[in-house]
Amino acid sequence: MMARRSQRDDPELLRGQLVALLTDFENELRSTELRLKVRALIPAFHLLRDLGSSLITGDDGDAARDRILLYFKKYPFTVIAGEELMVVAGIQDWPRRTRELRVQFGWFIVSGSTVREMYEEGEFQVEGIDPYRIRPDHYVLLNKKQDREAAHRWNLANSIRKKQASTKSRILEYFRSNTGRNVTGEELRYVAKNKTEWARRVRELRTEEGWPVVTKANGRPDLPVGVYILEADRQSPEHDRTVPDSVRREVLRRDNYTCTSCGWRHEEWNPSDPRHLELHHVEPHVRGGENEESNLVTLCVVCHDKVHCVG
Ligand SMILES: [Zn+2]
Ligand SMILES: [Zn+2]
Repeated sequence: MMARRSQRDDPELLRGQLVALLTDFENELRSTELRLKVRALIPAFHLLRDLGSSLITGDDGDAARDRILLYFKKYPFTVIAGEELMVVAGIQDWPRRTRELRVQFGWFIVSGSTVREMYEEGEFQVEGIDPYRIRPDHYVLLNKKQDREAAHRWNLANSIRKKQASTKSRILEYFRSNTGRNVTGEELRYVAKNKTEWARRVRELRTEEGWPVVTKANGRPDLPVGVYILEADRQSPEHDRTVPDSVRREVLRRDNYTCTSCGWRHEEWNPSDPRHLELHHVEPHVRGGENEESNLVTLCVVCHDKVHCVG
């Protein structure tokens, strides 16, 4: 049997019908016949769903998926409970519709799980959102603009996800397939088969293996929260790799996200001169130089390469 779809109507009319139905239910409730009670309650469920899906008015809210989107766009950067989406959608399969908005239509909707995992790696600071109160069935729209390349990336994510490889190497492959382009925490989590370790693995790629993975909190304050970019398909020199994120953040902030040698900053980036910033140990790490702010400077890759050539 096809599930009955919710039907939108005048909310006040639906409310009246629902009240009448529940009032009548008093009689059934007194009955000893269980099946009678159960069957009498079904229309109330339908009416309640109709009422919920009628709260968003207008022709652009005809489809459940559109209503979910309208609701998110009305409350961006706000924690939305799954139950709210259930009400405005008026359908049982609202999780699938929400997923379609994300994967096929490129709306940057993150789940509560992803928010929590990003937060634990210092990658999620949004005013008014307390990551400790967020639940897995909560959602946040992190960008008011649609990303039209997202569907293509999700396809790629899907094929990399299936590969027999470690979580970290699958994440790295996904990054390298998207070098220089934005990917989202939600995509990385998917590539990691929803394992909570994904955010930690991303950090390790940066702090242990020297891949230039940047985020709003780590190197690129201009990026939106939840966006990750592998800036170039190269690892930093081996001896400059093991810098903790907390130190890296401070050094970049201190140097104003600018190469201390030539003054290059990311605003000057262009395809014919694709640079990014790296950290360099003044006193080399191998000769006892510390992984501390006082021993680190920010260099663009051009200047960094020069320093290491000269020795
Ligand atoms: Zn430079
Ligand atoms: Zn160096």
